[in-house]
Parts: sequence; C-alpha cells; structure tokens
Amino acid sequence: MCLPEQEAGRASGFSVASLPLSQLLEAVAPQDNRYEITFVEADGARLARHGAARGQGLYVARRPIDLPGAVVELKVDDTLGRPGLLPNVTTALVLSLSIALAVVVVLLLRDMRRRSAAEQALAESLAFRKAMEDSLNTGLRARDLDGRITYVNPAFCSMVGFSAPQLLGSGGLLGAQPPYWPPERVEEYSRRQSTRQLAPPPAAAGTAPPIAEERTTPDEQEPPTPPLAEGLPATLQGFETVFMRANGERFPVMIYEAPLVDGLGQQTGWMSAVLDVSERQRNEEVARQQQERLQATARLATMGEMASLLSHELNQPLAAIASYASGCQNLLAEPDTHTVPLLREAVTRMGEQAERAGRVIKSVHDFVRRREQQRESIAVQVLLEGVLPLVRLQARKSGTRVEVHEHPAGLKVQVDRTMLEQVLLNLTRNGIQAMERETPLPDRVLRLHVRALPNGRVQFEVQDRGPGIAPEVAERLFTPFFTTRADGMGLGLSLCRTVVEQHGGTLEHESPAGDGLARGCRFRFTVPRAGDTSGSAQATND
Ligand code: ADP
Repeated sequence: MCLPEQEAGRASGFSVASLPLSQLLEAVAPQDNRYEITFVEADGARLARHGAARGQGLYVARRPIDLPGAVVELKVDDTLGRPGLLPNVTTALVLSLSIALAVVVVLLLRDMRRRSAAEQALAESLAFRKAMEDSLNTGLRARDLDGRITYVNPAFCSMVGFSAPQLLGSGGLLGAQPPYWPPERVEEYSRRQSTRQLAPPPAAAGTAPPIAEERTTPDEQEPPTPPLAEGLPATLQGFETVFMRANGERFPVMIYEAPLVDGLGQQTGWMSAVLDVSERQRNEEVARQQQERLQATARLATMGEMASLLSHELNQPLAAIASYASGCQNLLAEPDTHTVPLLREAVTRMGEQAERAGRVIKSVHDFVRRREQQRESIAVQVLLEGVLPLVRLQARKSGTRVEVHEHPAGLKVQVDRTMLEQVLLNLTRNGIQAMERETPLPDRVLRLHVRALPNGRVQFEVQDRGPGIAPEVAERLFTPFFTTRADGMGLGLSLCRTVVEQHGGTLEHESPAGDGLARGCRFRFTVPRAGDTSGSAQATND
C-alpha cells in the first residue's frame, strides 16, 4: 500500500507499506478449513494459498481485485465434491413415494383391464346361458328349499301357459299354490310338500333326495337316495306326474330334479327339467294301435289264403257225410233186421266227419279271432296241436311231409298263444311255399324242431328244403310289405319278428350254401320256458 504524503499542499513523499498475501489470507479466512482460498494472477499463477484441504473445483467463486499495477483474483474453492444420488432423506422419501404411486397406478390399470375382461366374459356367459335357456324346449324350473319358485324359463312358461311373473314366488308353504297344479291334485301335492318341509334340512349338497311334491310315485316307493359320492343323483331319476295348462288341460310331464348348490357348497334349492310327454304318449298309443292293426291285417290275410284251402279240406268230410246220408236213406227205404246196426255205424261215421270238419273250422276261427295279448303257460304239445291241422292243411296240397321233433318231450312255454301260433303258421307256410316249385316231391319235408336250451328258453326251428334265401332277399326279409311272391303281402316275417322280440327273443334265419339236399332254409327263434319237463328225452315223428 502506497500513501502520498503532503506538506503545505505539496507532495513531500510517499509512505509505502507492504503486507504478505499469505498473512492477509491467514488473517481474513475462516478457520474451519472448509475452503481452499487462493490469490491468483491473471495468467493463473498462484500467489498465495490458505486451507489444509484442496478444493474440488465444483463450487468455486472468483472475485477480481484491482490493485494498482496488478490484477489479482481471489478464488474460493469448496472442498465438497459432487453430491450423491439421494442428497437427503426428503428427496429420497419423495422419490420412493412417487415410485410407489407409479407402481400402484400400473397395478390399478392392470386390475381394471382384468376386471373389464372378467365383466365382459361374465356378460357373454350370461348371454350364452340366456340364449341356451330360451332355445331349450325343455322346461326349467328352480325352487328354493321352501319350495317357492325362483326361476322359470320361457319353455316352461309356454308349456304350462302361465307367464313368469304369475309363476315366480308361488309354491312353498307360505306362497300361493302353483297355478299349474290340477285342482284335484292340490291336496296330494301340498301334503307331499309339507312332508318335505318337515324333513331335516340337507346337511350338504346332494344329500337330500330329489323329490318334488308333484311326483305320483306312492310314498312307499320313494326314489332311492344315492350316496353322496355319486354326485349326480337327481338327473338320473325322472318321475312322471300331471300338470295343468292355463286352459285347464291336464298333461303328463317327466320331471328330472337336481340340487341347486351355491358357491359355498350349501344346497339352496332344486333345479328341475320338465318334459311334456303328452306327445310321446300319444305317439306310443298310435304306434301300438298300428301294430295291433298290422297284426290283425296279417291274420286276416292268412285267413283269406286259408279260406280256399279250408273249402277244399271241408269238402272231404262233407262229401263223406253226404254219402253216409244217402246210404242211410237207402237203408231206410227197405228196412230189415240188419238195417239198425248199419244205420248206427253210418250215423257214427257221419258224426265223426262232422266233428272233423268242426275242428278244422274251429282252429281257423280261434286263430283269426282278435284277442288281447296275454301270456300263458302252455305245453308245446298243446300249442302244436292247435297249429298242426292248419299246417297239414297247407302241406297236403303240395304233397309235403311234416315232421315234428320235441326234445325233451313235455316242454312248456310262457307265451301269447295266439301270436305264437301265428308265427309258427307263417314260418311253416313260407317253408311249404318255398318247396312248391323246385323241390322234387320226395324231398318235400318240413321239419319243426322244438328243443330246450340251457338258458331257460325254448327254441323253435322250422327247416325246409326249398331254394334258400338269396342275399339280396335276405337284406329286406323283415321289411314290412317286402315279398317275392305275386300273391304275397310281405307282412308275415315282419310280424313274426315283432312277436318274437316281444317274447324277448330274436328271429334268425340260415340258408346253407350249396346244391341238392343241403339247400333249404332254417328259421329259428326262442321263447321263455315255463314250468318243468316231464318224462325223458324222446322225439315224436308225425
Ligand atoms: P310273404 O310270404 O307274404 O311274401 P313274408 O314276410 O312271409 O311275406 O316273406 C317275405 C319273403 O321272404 C317271401 O316273399 C320270400 O321271398 C322270402 N322267404 C320267406 N321265407 C322263405 C323260405 N323259407 N325260403 C325262401 N324264401 C323265403
């Protein structure tokens, strides 16, 4: 530092003071040694320095100091280095909260996406379920454990003719009775319902028996309760009952019930599938009537054929009776002592012939008369006695011999006699007709075998020596109205098969390949055996 000195207004000299820069820094710098403080010349040369540690060059302050004759810079350099990633706790907290918030937002977004996908799937499955229920023609009805209706589908409504609001809430002990209960059955159905109410509640799903109060099964014939493990108890058991339409018409329905179980596995009610079976019953009745008519037609057709044979057969006894009668007249014209025994003889013969004719007529009459189907225990021999006169009647015309074998003798069968006679007549008639053309007279033999089988059934076999059955004929053999004969009706075998099947058997046929005597055809069927045999094994030839 240079100070001019003056005396009486004239410069008299200069006072010069010098101070080392380092001491200056020492004197003014803070004592904590945090900063490196330096005096630097313009060209960067360091003039003086203070501070134990070196500055990091990050937080730096410069201030030029204009001294006379020199430009010096005072530089202060902080010893602190670059700050860390989290300079302090607040920043760290804010940062972590922001990250958490972002994660929550992402999770929320994902959750929302999932939720909307689930909602869409639910809506689709509801729409699918509704479409399915609406398209069903099976009625669906759900009821709670008290028996109140909680749901009905459109098919159920149209079946009974009441709308869903009319039906929902009805039933149960407290609700009004369902409008589809026929008034005459209300008491019975209500009684069943209260019985069910009093029954202990089901402990778990599937343990309670699925019994609707409307079922018509008598109390003592409760449907069996299947074990819990089987899982599907109700769907397997249907029961038939009667409902009433809005117009008062009663109609039969089949009900299949299954327990309704909630998400916790507790039973909350019953779901029933209801089928209107009136149409099915009508169809069954029509089919039954058609079958009966078919059988009657077949019997009449056979009768028509027999009428001509019958007239031929009756000719013989009638001619015999006529000649005995004219013989009697001659004897009576000239009576003498020998007349009486001769007359007695002639009249006895006349009676026999008349009886024979009567038997022929009766067998045809018995056969043609329409009867209700009924099974009876009958000896095979008795059965054959009813048929054989008619078979022989046909056989005689073409010179066919009829052989009958029964093994063991005295067999009894449990059959509808009339229908079985019809089967035997059809099969024997077919056999006889098959031999009429090509089979040489000595070979015309029709065999009827009856034998007991070990399985408790009796087999009938009709064997002929005709040309057999060609494969193309065999294919259509049992089709109604299929025939290869100009005057045939084609009903015989189809009727035979129906009758045999009604007796739990099957009608089979066999035509061995080959020529000569090996040819022919066998028809076989079985019927249930009744009672026991008597006598030892033997064969009867006719
Ligand atoms: P139909 O005798 O009125 O023709 P069926 O149903 O009894 O009606 O027989 C159908 C056809 O089966 C006959 O037309 C005949 O061609 C054939 N058929 C039946 N039985 C025999 C048999 N034993 N041998 C050869 N063909 C037979």
